[in-house]
Amino acid sequence: MNHAEAVIVGTGHGGAQAAIALRQHGFTGSILLVGRDPNPPYERPPLTKDYLSGKRTFDRMLIRPPAFWEERGIALKLGANVGKVDPAAKELTVSGGETIGYGTLIWAAGGDARRLSCPGAHLAGIHTLRDKADTDHLLGELGGVANCRVVVVGGGYIGLEAAAALRERGCAVTLVEQRAQLLARVAGEDLARFFEAEHRAHGVEFRLSEEVSRIDGTQRAEGVALSSGETLPCDVMVVGIGIVPSAGPLIAAGASGADGIDVDEYCRTTLPEVYAIGDCAAHASAYAGGAVIRLESVQNAHDMATTAAKAICGEPEPYSAVPWFWSNQYDLRLQTVGLSLGYDTTVLRGSPEERSFSVVYLRGGAVIALDCVNRTKDYAQGRKLVEARAVIDPQDLLDAERPLKDLL
Ligand code: NAP
Repeated sequence: MNHAEAVIVGTGHGGAQAAIALRQHGFTGSILLVGRDPNPPYERPPLTKDYLSGKRTFDRMLIRPPAFWEERGIALKLGANVGKVDPAAKELTVSGGETIGYGTLIWAAGGDARRLSCPGAHLAGIHTLRDKADTDHLLGELGGVANCRVVVVGGGYIGLEAAAALRERGCAVTLVEQRAQLLARVAGEDLARFFEAEHRAHGVEFRLSEEVSRIDGTQRAEGVALSSGETLPCDVMVVGIGIVPSAGPLIAAGASGADGIDVDEYCRTTLPEVYAIGDCAAHASAYAGGAVIRLESVQNAHDMATTAAKAICGEPEPYSAVPWFWSNQYDLRLQTVGLSLGYDTTVLRGSPEERSFSVVYLRGGAVIALDCVNRTKDYAQGRKLVEARAVIDPQDLLDAERPLKDLL
């Protein structure tokens, strides 16, 4: 297909949902979903959780069964990288030079895993975990090494989830994080210290406030030299140090943006008939006090996709979804709602010792976010407090037996 009325770039959660939502909202024109990944759309979160630990097979990660796309008249062009966008001609150029015309373009290209840049960063055996091929490659290497020693770099969700799954596989894991605290970008200290203690109890070793200065080895990574002078021997490395948003072709085409592509409340970029959604879309968020942010989450990809599809179908509704995230590590289920950016007060409800607690984040007296560990009721009821930006006396939040819904 060399022209489609709606072309969607990216076959992750955002791209898949955009195609689904276009059909749900009555879009009758041709739809083409173009993606670099050779697989039909699949869920990414299990790549660092159940797929890595071996508890889930790939067929159970598909967002829809393969026949779904054809039945809905959604064409897939897989294994194709979009390198150029020409907004005047309304045309894309994919790898190999083929051009594809569009009526409307939805850019859902996500981001690429950031890589280390120190000496030795080119060696074999250094893995990022962003797509199925990445995780398969790592699994292939783990299979060949008994009692594999893994150095994980980065103490965000990727690093911690990978550490948990790799411990479940019997690997020896040491995690290196440049900050003094884990999850520093996304969570407060109470939660970070809890997860650090849990991982230590499961045998993970930590090197905090440490940078990787060099990776030693001839063909493969064999040792990770740290800023303190220590060298950690390793068979395999996993690097989870954030992403670089895939915005290049749109920015080169003249779209406004710096860290990602700027979009308005309908996910429109500054280019005509071009929308951007998901990890790569920079938007003003009411949950961040109106600041322009990028949100790297399934929720954001999914809900922005619906916003863009509705706008295209003539049912515009500004994007206002409350952010939420989750993470599974060992038998712990972390559920987060809201954004804790700029909090001035935290309240701990429940008991970290009993592995069931919530951290409530407040700013100026209002509830802005909750991190809930094995406390799904707090998460469900706390969402209402976040949506309402409810002003609540911290003392009232302390009583873990008191349902949060009673406080609204
Ligand atoms: P991340 O959340 O940005 O965490 C990366 C961590 O690595 C940061 O603490 C970072 O510190 C640290 N770091 C950066 N460079 C380093 C270095 N050279 N040496 C040691 N530490 C270094 O990124 P991520 O964990 O790779 O995750 C990527 C994206 O996927 C994120 O948006 C994440 O939220 C998302 N994701 C979400 C889930 C979930 O929702 N459950 C699961 C997996 C992934 P600085 O902050 O100082 O740079």
